[in-house]
Amino acid sequence: MARIVVAGAGAAGASVAYHLAELGADEIVLCDRGSVAGGATAKAMGGVRQQTDVGLAELEERAELQRSLGVPVVATAAPAGVRSDDMAGAVVCWQDGVADPPAVTRELVRRAAAGGVEVREGEDATKLAADVFVIAAGPWSAQVGEQLGLGLPIRPLCRQLLETEPVAGLPPDLPMTIEAETGFHFRRRGHRLVLAMSDPKPRWGFEEVVEESLFDDRLERLAHRFPAATGTRIDRAWAGLYDMTPDAHPILGRVGERIYAACGFSGHGFMQSPAVGRAVAEEILELEPTFDLSPYRLDRFERGAIFPEQLVL
Ligand SMILES: Cc1cc2nc3c(=O)[nH]c(=O)nc-3n(C[C@H](O)[C@H](O)[C@H](O)COP(=O)(O)OP(=O)(O)OC[C@H]3O[C@@H](n4cnc5c(N)ncnc54)[C@H](O)[C@@H]3O)c2cc1C
Repeated sequence: MARIVVAGAGAAGASVAYHLAELGADEIVLCDRGSVAGGATAKAMGGVRQQTDVGLAELEERAELQRSLGVPVVATAAPAGVRSDDMAGAVVCWQDGVADPPAVTRELVRRAAAGGVEVREGEDATKLAADVFVIAAGPWSAQVGEQLGLGLPIRPLCRQLLETEPVAGLPPDLPMTIEAETGFHFRRRGHRLVLAMSDPKPRWGFEEVVEESLFDDRLERLAHRFPAATGTRIDRAWAGLYDMTPDAHPILGRVGERIYAACGFSGHGFMQSPAVGRAVAEEILELEPTFDLSPYRLDRFERGAIFPEQLVL
């Protein structure tokens, strides 16, 4: 059987390798030029959402669509502690959640290795001999593509997360809360809150820099939406890279002669990685597809696909 090299051991590559092994491929190398879960996966908020969030009418319309697809979205009063007097409405899906992306990825890699996948760290995957190559290199995917003679429209965008000091009395069931109009959102992590919002001006490029001048604004927004956190400070902040495509949807499946992609997640790759890993592994192994990958094909950009996705946080 062919030797399959997966470039990148973040959430995406780990999931592809894990599913390849589970589906019976027998020579798989999962290779990261850094370390397992050392890229964007280490920086993620960890939100796992089936939810959407723009404007009440749109929320309701989407909730209807989500329910028709079996996602149990319900209208809700604001969760305990969340200010609601300036809200037109809210929806929640109690099956949404948060997870720890690096921990999940490391466990997937452990299981992939147990299933026979060779895991290499500190090596450039493009230097390895491969019959089949999978680009799962997150924000560096366009560079990897270029080394393989392939143009991938993926650009790195710097985003930052801020973690507060401990906040007393956080409700244990506080869901990840997203303001539809502004995109400001926060989640509970232990006794702390993690905050995020798009920068006023997008920061394109590979520099991962924390912009401290935004802290006060984010803390004011938090105090407004979650008054119990008034006066809290930022304890820790970090920046990471989104791998943005022109329409903010990923590029999945075959992209060239014996080359496959699982990249361009545009900030949503952790929650998509289980399904993506499965789908890409099935395509590589020419198995009956569980998911239709046609909306995610690379050639959509030749037809002018641009930004219909409204839900990039
Ligand atoms: C601030 C922030 C918040 C986020 N929040 C969320 C969220 O709430 N929910 C969500 O679903 N997603 C979120 N994401 C996105 C999510 O982190 C990623 O989409 C997801 O982890 C998938 O990452 P990946 O595996 O594609 O890339 P990465 O984790 O970046 O992995 C790519 C790997 O490729 C390696 N690599 C690069 N070049 C080579 C090479 N030549 N050879 C070998 N290896 C190579 C790198 O070292 C890296 O480890 C967030 C991202 C950021 C930055």
